[in-house]
Order: sequence, then C-alpha cells, then structure tokens
Amino acid sequence: MDSPLTQIPREKLEAWLRYYCDLDLGEFYLDRRNMGKRSVKPRAAGAAAASVSAPQVAISSAAPVPALTAPVLSVVNVPSMFEVLDRVEGDTLELIREHLGECTRCRLQKQRNKIVFGAGNPRAELVFVGEGPGRDEDMQGLPFVGRAGKLLTQMIEAMGLSREDVYICNVVKCRPPENRKPEDDEVATCSPYLFRQLDVIAPKAIVCLGATAAQALLKTQDPISRYRGNWFDYRNTKLMATYHPAYLLRNPAAKGEVWKDLQKVMAHLGLKVKKPAR
Ligand code: URA
Repeated sequence: MDSPLTQIPREKLEAWLRYYCDLDLGEFYLDRRNMGKRSVKPRAAGAAAASVSAPQVAISSAAPVPALTAPVLSVVNVPSMFEVLDRVEGDTLELIREHLGECTRCRLQKQRNKIVFGAGNPRAELVFVGEGPGRDEDMQGLPFVGRAGKLLTQMIEAMGLSREDVYICNVVKCRPPENRKPEDDEVATCSPYLFRQLDVIAPKAIVCLGATAAQALLKTQDPISRYRGNWFDYRNTKLMATYHPAYLLRNPAAKGEVWKDLQKVMAHLGLKVKKPAR
C-alpha cells in the first residue's frame, strides 16, 4: 500500500517541508536505498537534539543519508506529520485517566476486572512500556505485579532505581483474554492514551518491554530481535526495546542481553552500574 505521504501533491509537501525547516525542526530526507519501503532510522550519533520525530519517516529527496548506527525498520501505518507533532495542550495524567473513564471502546472491556492505567513517578526520567495487563494486574489495577513484574522490579533495582522512581505502563490498559497478544485494533484504540502519557511524563528514556510495545511506538512489525538494544527516536525521546520479562522467565539465558540493554539506558541517564542483574 502506498504511503499517505506519496499521495500528497509534491508542491504541498515541499511547502510543508520548507515550513518545518523554517521552524528549525530539522531536515526531512529520503533514503533512496529504500525507495518504496518506508523506514524508521535511529537518530545518528551526535545528531542535533532538536530534530523532531517526524523525520524518522523517509519522505523527501536530495539530502545525503546519514551513517546508520542501528537497523532500519520497516514502518507501517505512518502517522501524518501533523499527527506526529500533535500534543494535547495542558494535558495531565489525571486528565488522561478521566478521558479514559470506564472505557468501553474495544472488546477488551468485556472481560476486564480493572483498568490498568499505569503507575509510578509522574515525572520519571525512565518509563517502561509493557504489552498489557495479565491476571494479577487485572485483579489489582496495577502494572507488572505478577511474576514478570517481580522480575521487572529486580531489573529496575539492579539499575539502582526503585519502582517509585520510574513509571510503568502498557500498550493496552485492559487484560486480553487468556493473556493473548492484543489485536491491532485494540492497540490502535488504546495506544493514543499511552502516547499522551508519554508526552505528559516526557521522560529521558523509554524502554519497551517486548515486541508489542516496540511495534506500537516505532510503528513497525519487525521482530524485536532485529532492533533490541539500539536507540531510536520517539517524539524526541530516546527509546530502546528489550525483551519482555515474561520472555526472560521462559528464556533465562537472554537475561544477559537485557542487562546489556539496560546498562546503555543507565549510561544515558547517568546511572552508575552497581551490580549485575541476576
Ligand atoms: N505483562 C505486561 O506486558 N504488562 C503487565 O502489566 C504485566 C505483564
């Protein structure tokens, strides 16, 4: 399917691009090696911090392609430039919770016990995003309180932090039946609330726990093994995907990889490594 951007008249697109350049929002460019394939690029090392997340989407011509330090991802459902730049004025976590209400927007409401909005420090420098509540979370209305949650707590503590220092939330806020993966339409319905939470908290780093979170925020369907441990830009915030704690419970050998990823996050946050994760 054609990108919505390719359906925009060229003059209109050029005018938009000039306007964004005038606003000093950074350059838009097309990776000519991927003609016809939309791509997300990690921010090149040392690139201007002011660049906006829209340029993740390859759209225009001419300018040279920067050297890549991480995989190029295939992108689906590319948001429009306006959608990407959109922010809800005066937004707060309380307002988002209020707007969510006793949500009936998707089928997940049918079997849920409690909505799991998110928990932790509303001014956290680090946000963890999981997939969706499991049984324990659904009962308590809190994220990551079951077995996977206990492992996440250990990971957070190994970073020298506590759960109260960080913010923890999920792509979908209601438990999918039998802990199945949330469907695309459920993610599409619920994720705008997550985007707003991330905008309000404005952390220094986002860690996606597992493919569902990474795919929702990076707009890709690529497998997480292709890009975990690499930094990406999410609306001007550094984002890294790593394996989900539930995956680590089934594959403890992967804990070392996750610890390496978390050490990169610690370096970005200026945290000193104290002890290895167990
Ligand atoms: N798994 C998740 O992805 N989120 C939770 O809150 C709990 C388990």
